[in-house]
Amino acid sequence: MSGAKTIGCINHPGIEAVGRCRQCSKPVCSNCAVRGPAGMYCSDICREKHEQFVQRAKDMDLHRATRRGVFFHIRNLIGSLIMLAAILFALGFTASIVYIPVLTEITERVRFFLGI
Ligand SMILES: [Zn+2]
Ligand SMILES: [Zn+2]
Repeated sequence: MSGAKTIGCINHPGIEAVGRCRQCSKPVCSNCAVRGPAGMYCSDICREKHEQFVQRAKDMDLHRATRRGVFFHIRNLIGSLIMLAAILFALGFTASIVYIPVLTEITERVRFFLGI
């Protein structure tokens, strides 16, 4: 511990590090830093590992988004089914109080279909 505030490069302790490896967070100087699209790395190995990790994370996000989409669709479908059942129930209820020949015939059929 020299007391200096600057962090030295992992390979060149006397040279100030310009950043840390995104993969293993080792401090690296501008000579050692391997630049990638997402930041800097201490080596090509770390750059590759991190890029693979980022790609996997993206794939997982995509998977999750797709699952959420399917779930949303199912919920929508269940929502409309409940709505439909409520309408049919209301229709049947009305038909049982007020005698409407055509409506009764329809609701009778629907009731038979639903097994009510
Ligand atoms: Zn590294
Ligand atoms: Zn260095």
